[in-house]
Amino acid sequence: MSVELVLQSVGFDYGRGHRAVDGVDMRLGAGVLGLLGPNGAGKSTLMRILATLAKPSAGQVTWNGHDIAREPNRLRAVLGYLPQDFGVYDALDAREFLGFLAAVKGLAGKAARARIDACLERVGLADTGDRRLGQFSGGMRQRVGIAQALLNDPALLIVDEPTVGLDPDERMRFQHLITDLAGDRLVILSTHIVSDVEASASAIAVMAAGQLRFHGTPGELIARAAGHVWEWTVPEAQLATVRGAHTLVASLRTPDGIRVRVVSEGAPDAHAQPAAPGLQDAYAWLLNGAH
Ligand code: ADP
Repeated sequence: MSVELVLQSVGFDYGRGHRAVDGVDMRLGAGVLGLLGPNGAGKSTLMRILATLAKPSAGQVTWNGHDIAREPNRLRAVLGYLPQDFGVYDALDAREFLGFLAAVKGLAGKAARARIDACLERVGLADTGDRRLGQFSGGMRQRVGIAQALLNDPALLIVDEPTVGLDPDERMRFQHLITDLAGDRLVILSTHIVSDVEASASAIAVMAAGQLRFHGTPGELIARAAGHVWEWTVPEAQLATVRGAHTLVASLRTPDGIRVRVVSEGAPDAHAQPAAPGLQDAYAWLLNGAH
């Protein structure tokens, strides 16, 4: 299965000259791309363009060499998409719901039933296929969302902020599922939470204010923060001051006070000790610290 998605100077304008996506260039192959960025960065808009639900106002996207705006059906045939506002019909059970969507996608009969069973199995819902969706938890609904996105065994799987509203166990389960699904397809997962992609992403893209601020491996992003991560302990009363003066990545209560972790060009405090960077630090450094 050939997998090459190329974005060239992709831009999108909702009107009034406001660029929601601005000049994005990326070349993507098989693997999991974690698309990170704060709310409003332009992630959903970019995902809708890649899912052929919006046409770019500028630039071009090609799937295996074909312009997706001019020939959307080539991509749609191999696309799985879980939008941010995915809704299910509460009165249907998972099998009925997937059967409905399979029919919409042109899958029917025995082949559809076999495929639905395989997809339910894949997302760990094989035993719950006959229960009404109205009784499903948020995490189970999101897994139904993935199951419907997998119906056509997609070469490109796009999931937009899939962990919103999930509890920590469901979130972790979802992260494992995404890792399992990678294989020889391209999975693009957008989120504003770094830990959502920490385990699964083979590549990271970071967007802010419509622009692509980074695209590379997690290791490359982490390397940029080397020498800029610091830790020290402050009395609890000083936490607000530290937060106001520095980019705080984490704080941990200890018997001696609050252990703060900060990204900063140089030592932020006489007591600060250098720490080895992780993805969360690197993301904070890219967006708030690096100049
Ligand atoms: P993200 O997914 O990273 O949160 P979005 O793509 O949703 O970002 O939004 C990017 C920008 O586009 C934001 O400034 C947002 O307000 C704006 N935007 C998103 N959807 C619309 C819309 N339907 N009409 C006008 N502006 C929009």
